[in-house]
Order: sequence, then structure tokens, then C-alpha cells
Amino acid sequence: MRTKVKRRAFIVLGAAIVAGALWLRLGPLPPIDPASVTSPTIVDRNGVVLYEPLSPKQTRGEWITASDIPERVAQATVAAEDKRFYSHIGIDPMAVARAAVHDVRAFRVVEGGSTISQQVAKLLVPKRNKLREAVIALRLEHRYSKQEILALYLNLAPYGNEVNGIARASRRWFGCAPENLTTAQAAFLAALPQRPNERAAQARQPLVLRRMVDQGFITKSELTVARNERLRFDRRSDPLIAAHFVERVRDEVARRGTAFNPAVNAGRTIRTTLDAALQRDVRGIINAQRANLLRHGAHSAAVAVLDNATGEWLAWEGSGDYFGPSQGESFGGAIDGVVTLRQPGSALKPFTYALAFEQGFSPSTVLADVPSSFPTAEEGVIYTPRNYDGRYRGPLRARFALAGSENVPAVAMLARVGPPSLLRLLRRAGFRNLDRTADYYGLGLTLGDAEVTLEQLVTAYAVFARGGMDVATSVLRCPLSVDLCPSATALASGPHSSSNNDQRTTENDQRTTDNGQRATDNGERTTTNGQRPARVLSERTAFWITDILSDPDARAYAFGNGGSLDFPFPVAGKTGTSQAYRDNWTVGYTRDVTVGVWVGNFDRSELRNSSGVTGAGPIFHSVMLAAMKGKAAGDAPIVEPPPGLERAPVCALSGLRPSTSCPNVETEWVASDAPVEFCSWHHDGWVDWPSEYRDWARVEARATIAGPAHPTAHDERLKILSPPNGATYLIDPTLRMAFQSLPLRASDPHATFHIDGRAIAARSWPLAPGKHTVLAEARGKRDEVTIYVK
Ligand SMILES: [Zn+2]
Repeated sequence: MRTKVKRRAFIVLGAAIVAGALWLRLGPLPPIDPASVTSPTIVDRNGVVLYEPLSPKQTRGEWITASDIPERVAQATVAAEDKRFYSHIGIDPMAVARAAVHDVRAFRVVEGGSTISQQVAKLLVPKRNKLREAVIALRLEHRYSKQEILALYLNLAPYGNEVNGIARASRRWFGCAPENLTTAQAAFLAALPQRPNERAAQARQPLVLRRMVDQGFITKSELTVARNERLRFDRRSDPLIAAHFVERVRDEVARRGTAFNPAVNAGRTIRTTLDAALQRDVRGIINAQRANLLRHGAHSAAVAVLDNATGEWLAWEGSGDYFGPSQGESFGGAIDGVVTLRQPGSALKPFTYALAFEQGFSPSTVLADVPSSFPTAEEGVIYTPRNYDGRYRGPLRARFALAGSENVPAVAMLARVGPPSLLRLLRRAGFRNLDRTADYYGLGLTLGDAEVTLEQLVTAYAVFARGGMDVATSVLRCPLSVDLCPSATALASGPHSSSNNDQRTTENDQRTTDNGQRATDNGERTTTNGQRPARVLSERTAFWITDILSDPDARAYAFGNGGSLDFPFPVAGKTGTSQAYRDNWTVGYTRDVTVGVWVGNFDRSELRNSSGVTGAGPIFHSVMLAAMKGKAAGDAPIVEPPPGLERAPVCALSGLRPSTSCPNVETEWVASDAPVEFCSWHHDGWVDWPSEYRDWARVEARATIAGPAHPTAHDERLKILSPPNGATYLIDPTLRMAFQSLPLRASDPHATFHIDGRAIAARSWPLAPGKHTVLAEARGKRDEVTIYVK
């Protein structure tokens, strides 16, 4: 009877001991979440670090696998923390006893006696509980190999300076990867987690080295070398290259929401499209131009470079100086000029011509660059555009009108094709902020009165470079991110993971991460591949615009030769200057890249003595050369001439097919199927000027008007031809006041003019606001008109 009871008691006790041991060894572990201590790194297209945001635990860290731990680092850590690490079972009774003796002698707690496994437990469980740490340490030993436990410690331990883990600590303190650490450096880092500051670790480092000798990890001579090594710390601040771009990337990441949230991507590298080397070139170029910019009263410059084929942003500089003292708050260096709305000036003109080409006009179409007035949406108000130099050039082929950026023909062209059509084209090309009506913008739309961003301008110009197809731009590269913590997967699929709850949790976490990643990749596919490029312009129009904008001979009459738009390879370029010289632009493209430059002030103060050629131009020139470095540009056209176009001779004056009487013949790309119209202007020895050019030809070209007699020759009355009676003029804000003058013409070329009773000697009168009376007199005859100037 008693033996039965005894036996039963033994069985119960034995079962209890086995159960207890099983619970100790196999019980649950706290979750191991690499994402909580690893932070995403934003890198450029080649892996250069642009920025490192903090992890969810407000640290920076990256995860390394057990197999990636360098031997020196493992040795130094074991020497510093736990010399019997490879032999104990998770707790070290000898160390505990020794620590207790030390503590008693010192009358305080000086040594924890904690093994590396216990310290991992401590790092995993936020609340301090010695017993619990010991239990978890035992379980860790059961689940993982020594090397895996050491890896957990090296990944979770704090190394000062908001850094977790040996990998990031190595880069932060010594600027190198952990595998490149010297023995002295490894010993310093091993000394850090106990007291994570530089002085304490430096004081402890010799002790760690001594213990490495005691453990047989290094020889005496290696100790001498390590002791003599002077530690050189990397004092560089955290990298922040392309601050405005990084902001844009973070906005984009945030915008993607759950599909791309920072927690999911913690510890991953976010790959962006930027080329850090080109970005540095851009910064250097702006710095080199700074004195020149300041001379013109410009405190900020923005530059954007787009890869035409992929739509990837290669460079993105928002102000020229994000943090700089001279830019600082007063000049808004932190404002991103790439996405700031400004008036583009003439930089929008190519779209007016593109629209005209879509509607049947061509580069050889002749436009009238003569004093002209156009009705506006406002009743009784006449719009009278003027050119930048105040001159009129008579008949001007579209090629020269666009390349020379003349205002009058551009407005004349827009008056023919209509502001509503241009507005539709501009919106299709990506100018999203043009949200007013066509009447609101009026004919000033072609002169760049409406506001756009540099980003939109560059994206829209890329349509020309891409033969008329639009482009979906991106700041993130596909695949978006590279998993930096494969150890999580390795741990989850480890040899002990088959029958464990916590392990399953880890697997679930991992699965969530995988799902997140898949969703992210899907998101990216939708953005870049989901939107198939749409045709904004015909190939023919894209080719014509490109051919004109890359034709140095066509712009030479207005801008001279050898300027910022001239390159040793084909570049299509355009400059722009906004009202009252507040903004200065140059935008252009090759087959490979589109480059845009804005120069100005965020407070909209005016520039001095600046135009598209002198302000943004030099920056554009240097950035384009930098962006094309290493690319074989050659002489191939940016856009290939599409089928259906041929080079044909045209009369230089009329743009029509030349007759034998035409004195100057040039070649032009014309549509093969267009009806051939021969020049009717040139006759033997004289020009039959179409009526709209006669006044201009008589004055400017000093031409004898022959052919059918001019109607005024028969008119006995004196008549004021310009200005017309009742006209209302708008002072053109895009021009200097010196060019804001009204031509005075009468049917008798010898007429004298009086305005508001004062004699005017010149043939033009500078506009002044108000109501004015214009009186002409000749040979006793008079004519009088009234005009209004707003
Ligand atoms: Zn001719």
C-alpha cells in the first residue's frame, strides 16, 4: 500500500519535473520584431544613402544575419560581455556567484553577471525582471544556436547616437561596414552597449582587448598593434543629400498609405530614382553661379532633370541651398522651387506652335510680326502685344518666330487657334494648375501669364522629346525596396520553429511584411506600367518643335550665337522670363534627358538685368553637360523625322515653294502630302507685299510698295491708321516700359502728331494710363481719335 502511494508520488513528481523542464525550455518567447529597431534608408539609384529616417523606436539600425557577423566583432563582444558564452546553457552560475562576491565587496551592484542570452532577453522584454530574463534566456538557448543568439544581441544592443545594432553602429562611428572593423575598433564598439557614450567606451576598450588575449582570440603582438591604434571617429553628420527630393519621396511613401507604410518598410532600403552624383554636380553648379545670381538679385535656383525614357527624376534641387545661412528663413531655402507655382513667360510658347502644327500650320507658315491689336474677352479692350526688343520683323516663318521667341506672332498664332484649344493641350501635357477659364487667361496664355511649376514644365517638355507621348514620372524605383533583414525569414524558418506558437506569430508578422511588400510592388506597377503613355501630340508636331528648338541658326537673329542653348550635341531649348522680370527659366532636352532651371526669389521680388539667357541659362548649360556626361549623344536627331516629311526648298520671305524670282531660298521640313503653293510675293525686281505687311514694309524695309496701288493713295482725307479710334490698350506687364509704346501712323507719311495737345516728334508714343486724344495734321487736313490705356 505504502509503496503504491510512494510510486504514485514519484510518478507525479517526475511528471511535474518533466513538465516544468519542458515549460522552461519550450514556453513562449517574446516576439522578435526586426522592424521595430531597423530604420528605412532612402538611397539613390546606385545605393548611395540620401537620408535615414528614425525607426519606430526612434533609433537607426539595420539587421544582419548570424552568418554575416564578422569574427572580430563576435570575439570582442564575447570577451566584453560573457566569456563562457559558448559553454553555458543561457545562464552562468559562475558569473552570478562572482558578481555576487563583487557586489558584496563593493557594497553595491557593480556587475549584473548577465549572460549575452540574458541580455537579449532583457532587450526583448521592456520591464526588468531577473527571473523572467533567466527563463527567456533558457528558452532562447533551446530555440537558437549560439551564433543566432549572438546575432540577436548584436542587432538589438544600443550603441549610442540613436543607433541600434552593430551594423549601423560600425558605419556611424567609423564610417565602414562591420567586416572592415579593426580589432581596436571592434573592441571599442563591444565596450559601448554597457555605457553607450564615447568616453566610457574608450576607457573600457583596453580591458576588452586584454580579455581578448586571455580568451586566446588575439595574440600579444596583435594586442600591441590594437593598443597603438588611434581611433578615428567619423564626425560627419547624418547624410541628407537632396533634401527637397527626400521630402518628396517621404510624401510619396506616406501617400501610398498602407501599401507602403514606414513600419512595413522599416529596415528596408527605399530605392529612389535620384542620381546622387548628378545631384552633387547640380549643387556645385548652383554654388559656382551664386555670385552671378546675387548680382542679378536672385537668391534661389531650382533645377530638375528627368530621364525621358523612364520618367525617373535624376536630379531635384528646390532652392539651391536648403539649410544655408544666406538662404535660411529669409530667402525660403526650405521651399521647394521645383513644385512652386510661378509664371513661365515664353517657356510656354512652344505649346502654342505645337497646337498650330496639329491644326495644319507648319514651320514654314509665315506669321505677321507687325504692329497688331487683338480683341479680348473684355468688351472694348484691345490687346496689343510687343516684342522684347520693341522691333517688328514683318513676315516671319513660324520656325524663326518660335526660335526667336517673338511675342507678336505667338499671340497672332494663338488668336487663330484659340485660347480654349491651347488650354486643353496644356492641361493634357500636365499643367494641372491651369484651372481657370480660357477667357480668364486670354491671349496672354501664350506669353506665360498663367502659373505652372518647374516639375510640370519639365514633364511637359519631355512630351516633345518622347515624340509626342506623355510620361508618368516617378521618384521611386521598381522594385521599390530591398529587404535588408533576411534574418527574420531565417529565424522564422529555423529548425525549431515547427511546433511553436510564438514562432508562428513571427511567421505571421513575416507574412504581413511579405503581403505589404507585394501590395507595394503592385502599387508601383499600377503607377508606372498601369498608366500606359498617351499620345498628346503627333510625332510630326513633336519633331517640328524639337527641330526648331534645336536650331541655333533660327534663334541667332534674336539671341546671337554661342549662348547657353548651344551645345556640341543636339539640344532643344527655350528660355522664359515672367512679368517684371521676377522669374527666369531655361528648359530643354536631348533624346535622353529633359533639364529645367528656374531662377528667382520666393518672395517674388524682381530680378535685375536678367533675362532667360543670362540668369537660368548658364546653370542650364552646365547641368545639361553634367547630365549628358557618359552618354553618347552624337549627332543623331533628338526626335527622328517621321514618315511623310521631307526637306524641300522654300522662299525665305514667304515660306512658300520658291519661284525663279525668289532671291533667297532655304530648306524646310514640309509635309510630303501638303498642296504645293508657289511664292506669289516675288516678281522680277519687286515684291507684292500682302496687305498686312505693307505699312511695315514701307517703314521698316524701306520697300517700294508696288503692284496694286495702296488704297490711301486715292484717299483725299487724312486718316489716322494707328492707333484705331476707340481702342483700349493694356500695358503689357511682360515688357519694360521702354518697349510699351504705341506706333503712330497716318495715311500721309508726313503727318505730325499731337497727343493730349502736346506735339510728338517720334513715330511712337510711350503708353500712359488714362484716356487720350490723338491728333494728326498734314497739309491742312486733320484727323482725331480717342484711345484708352489701362
Ligand atoms: Zn519668294
